[in-house]
Amino acid sequence: MKRKRPPIRFNKPYLTGKESYYMFQAIEMGKISGNGEFTQKCQQFFNKRYGFRHSLLTNSCTDALEMAAILLNIREGDEVIMPSFNFVSAANAFLMRGAKIRFADSLPDHPNIDPESVRTLINNRTKAIVLVHYAGVACDMDALQSMVEGTRIALVEDTAHGIEAGFKGKQLGSFGSLATFSFHETKNIISGEGGLLVVNDPELVGRSEIIWEKGTNRAAFFRGDTEKYEWVDIGSSFLPSELTASFLYAQLENIGLIQDKRCRIWELYREHLQPCSDKGCFDLPRIPDYASNNGHMFYLVCQDPETRNELIDYLVGKGIHAVFHYLPLHNSPFFHNRYEGKGLPNAERLSECLLRLPFYFELSEIDVAVVCEAVNQFFKERG
Ligand SMILES: *Cc1c(COP(=O)(O)O)cnc(C)c1O
Repeated sequence: MKRKRPPIRFNKPYLTGKESYYMFQAIEMGKISGNGEFTQKCQQFFNKRYGFRHSLLTNSCTDALEMAAILLNIREGDEVIMPSFNFVSAANAFLMRGAKIRFADSLPDHPNIDPESVRTLINNRTKAIVLVHYAGVACDMDALQSMVEGTRIALVEDTAHGIEAGFKGKQLGSFGSLATFSFHETKNIISGEGGLLVVNDPELVGRSEIIWEKGTNRAAFFRGDTEKYEWVDIGSSFLPSELTASFLYAQLENIGLIQDKRCRIWELYREHLQPCSDKGCFDLPRIPDYASNNGHMFYLVCQDPETRNELIDYLVGKGIHAVFHYLPLHNSPFFHNRYEGKGLPNAERLSECLLRLPFYFELSEIDVAVVCEAVNQFFKERG
């Protein structure tokens, strides 16, 4: 009898080995609250590697999006455009500041926001566009940037999936006035929970530090830039402790290793699945010429919802944990009664037809082959 293979889970956080060592160092140094040595080291890492003007570690990407909404002075009556095929964080962050959320559709052949759909939603109340680079694949930044040029509309990049990914060779997160990253354990680089706010607009830098530190000028005070430490604006406790930052630093030191491995896994998936896709069984992720791949996620888009759901059940039955992704926010239990726009057919189709395959650093070549064989077998059996 064949030995039973252990199940292949969807995600497994990868530890480089140095995380606990750096956490212990932070403890030994006797400084474990925020904005210490490891926080500075991480922030410098991002500024140096990606040429960001100003980076602030946060407790999550959600935190960074909330900071973005405060920094952009969002208030009642302002409108903010974002994709419906999206995580809830950006919608919550801007809604909590009183914004009206206008949901845009995805492209017909990609989960990224459709610039044409954005164009139809822009009016004189539009304050920001919050885009997502889905699966780390760049949105068409030329189209989106030209749309806001000469207007007062801010571009915010939710780059939660997009570390080490670029548009025309430039790192994602360097195009918007603001950009956010996530180090949640499901992302490429992790710290349990964790995030980053990137401030590219020089006019927003000073205030970003204040909002980060509960509305006080504490960061400037500790640098010796001001004599008093006072309440000067609104804010919250957005900064993570040094325990989180020290963990993150170990990951960042190994970013090359992590990325090489993830990109190899992605390429292997593509090779194994291309023939079945060529026969029309499903669509593989499309990567436009202007975008580079960062091995964040591997997904298929099935021809119809029934096939997608049956494929998930089939894989789960074989101990392979494949999952669906976003449910469109405009149709969500919380929002559908508030939604006044049109149907968003591409977002709706993706939520029903997209399937994500197991993806993590320690996924072996054999695991990838097993997953792909099961996918291919499913379509063979269906004929
Ligand atoms: C993961 C994710 C978030 C939330 O990140 P947290 O760090 O968990 O707050 C936001 N937006 C997108 C697109 C994400 O994938």
